[in-house]
Amino acid sequence: MGDSTVSVTEQALPPRPEDPRNITSHNFRLAADRLGLDSEMRTLLSTPFRELRVEVPVRLDNGSLKVFLGYRIQHSGVRGPAKGGLRYHPAVDVQEVRALAEAMTWKTALVNIPFGGAKGGIACDPHAMSQSELERLTRRFTSRIQAILGPYRDIPAPDMNTNAQVMTWIFDEYSAHHGYTPACVTGKPVEMGGSKGREQATGYGATILIRELMKEVGKPLAGAKVALQGFGNVGSHAARALAREGAQFVAIGDYHGAIYSQKGINLEELFAHQAATGKIQGLAGTEPLSSEDLLEVECDILVPAALECVIHRGNAERIRARFIAEAANLPTTPEADEILGRRGVVILPDILTNAGGVTVSYFEWVQNLQQLFWEEDHVNAEMEKILVKAFRNVMHTASSQKIPLRTAAYTIAVERVARAEKLRGT
Ligand code: NAD
Repeated sequence: MGDSTVSVTEQALPPRPEDPRNITSHNFRLAADRLGLDSEMRTLLSTPFRELRVEVPVRLDNGSLKVFLGYRIQHSGVRGPAKGGLRYHPAVDVQEVRALAEAMTWKTALVNIPFGGAKGGIACDPHAMSQSELERLTRRFTSRIQAILGPYRDIPAPDMNTNAQVMTWIFDEYSAHHGYTPACVTGKPVEMGGSKGREQATGYGATILIRELMKEVGKPLAGAKVALQGFGNVGSHAARALAREGAQFVAIGDYHGAIYSQKGINLEELFAHQAATGKIQGLAGTEPLSSEDLLEVECDILVPAALECVIHRGNAERIRARFIAEAANLPTTPEADEILGRRGVVILPDILTNAGGVTVSYFEWVQNLQQLFWEEDHVNAEMEKILVKAFRNVMHTASSQKIPLRTAAYTIAVERVARAEKLRGT
């Protein structure tokens, strides 16, 4: 066993070019102004309910001890238990988790499911860790935050670099403290009480919403040129579903860079190439492109499905897409929003576009509490109903009040949470 102790501290993290909290605060302020909320209500709604920061010591495979920083932030529980993903990424810090937790409050309110908002994260590089190190990290983190989790308190789910296996470790560790509790976490494998359709729900849901938007503006989705940033859970499932609708991919990228083809990327060939080589880069018939340049290619629909703050004042003028569907959380800064709005680019906001994931997480929680299972067709049909209803509501609010879709979505969501705060009292 080695004797070195390596500690990850907040100071050691790379500086963030934009504070993602500015995005949620700005969008909240626009909605609060429209709703005429008083300053007490603004304070109540914008202040997180509970923030927990934990140090997570993990014995690495080489025998050394490393201390990671983990966070669980519950922004609101006023409409139901706090709900939101858990992210493993080197850039995780308190501002990022705070912003993502707040976005979850507005997302669950917008689609009108009985949850509040939360988010968790651990500052770590999961690609540099073994499976057993990740398991020890997840179990230690869960054991340190389990007191504030639970089916009626706070229910985590997958986010960047976490998956059904990580959710199973959380379920197992939580159950060791509290007894068998599958409803304590969603995004589990189906054989562990997960819901059919959950894994693809965010990408599939994004496709349903893009399809509705195209119908609304009278443009066909079949043949539309799409650029997709991020090819993980959300991006790859959105790609499959968009391809089924006949969309054509001109650029697809991930952390390692992007590929471009004016004639269109063949998805089946891409999945086969990825299975054979472990990466998307180098697919025959495509040209290499940087992740940043992908955002600026000529296309009809740009789908960011990776990190936040990727569309900012530095590149917004150069974006050539006519529509942006935000499958990622918080990909667009307020300055970029303003520039794109002025240029007539229509943005389908994140709290709507990627709400399919939390919607099916809600179905998973419901199934776990009732100890029954739904068929996948039923899951998909129920998700579609909820998403299309939210979409119509956002479109109606935007067109009747002559405001962008994002402001409409936030206005609907903030009004619902404010009403719940009022009814419950302080
Ligand atoms: P994931 O870890 O499965 O995939 C992330 C993808 O982004 C990978 O392809 C990765 O290579 C790529 N990526 C990472 N850094 C990048 C960079 N700097 N440039 C370009 N690509 C980069 O994560 P995911 O679950 O697909 O989440 C993606 C986004 O969707 C996140 O914003 C997340 O918060 C959001 N989201 C996820 C869910 C869900 O159900 N998983 C639900 C709602 C929202």
